[in-house]
Amino acid sequence: MIFNLRRSAAPLLRTRNLEIDGMHVPVILRRNVRARRFILKIGANKPEVILTMPGNGSETEAMDFAISQAPWIKSRINAQPDIIAFAPGVEIPLRNLMHTLEHRPNQRGTVWVLEDDNSELGQPVICVAGDQRHLARRVRDWLKKQARSDLAQSVAIHSEHLGLRAKGITIRDQTTRWGSCSSTGGLSFSWRLILAPPFVLDYVAAHEVAHLEEMNHGPRFWKLVEQCIPDYRDAQKWLKSSGSKLHIYGEQH
Ligand SMILES: [Zn+2]
Repeated sequence: MIFNLRRSAAPLLRTRNLEIDGMHVPVILRRNVRARRFILKIGANKPEVILTMPGNGSETEAMDFAISQAPWIKSRINAQPDIIAFAPGVEIPLRNLMHTLEHRPNQRGTVWVLEDDNSELGQPVICVAGDQRHLARRVRDWLKKQARSDLAQSVAIHSEHLGLRAKGITIRDQTTRWGSCSSTGGLSFSWRLILAPPFVLDYVAAHEVAHLEEMNHGPRFWKLVEQCIPDYRDAQKWLKSSGSKLHIYGEQH
């Protein structure tokens, strides 16, 4: 079931929980007055269900419908891949907002974004020109460039705020760490931070900048981080709960 919703047309009602053979599946209920029946969609790369309700449908009916579809939901969630390779039609979170990858072989350029208002799907699209054989690499290079640009900006802001100076930024595919700071003052970051919410990327930048002054995780270090990001614990919580999800995207290196 492919169903594209304009986010504005289907306000989020609430999230309910469905238990299928011991598996807990969040069911995100939305209402769309234009829908004529209950419509189920499996979340993009996520073990969750989006259930669109028609104008006159009740939540009880919606959950009854979800229960009646439990075998289908279970099989679809179990079939979700462990790795989401960059390929046409795949959805990837750019700055935590789902974008569909589209191949545009006949168009000039390399990689560009269509915001939802300009895309046929009614949701943001990352368009990739050129030969399909190079699509995955082009997407990856482009995401790295986006990561570098956002991280450079955050590093500049926090360095200035703390009166420190980084010796340059390297973007890597670190699997164990989101960022690091060398003793010579060079900062490295994982490109995957561009998939996270911007406040998370900003926190990791501030964290590594603070290491330019304090090469430890002592109280003085955390004071510096807090000076840059007063509510940095929210970002830490996000990384703890959702950070591993960022590793499913793209081929692994
Ligand atoms: Zn650290």
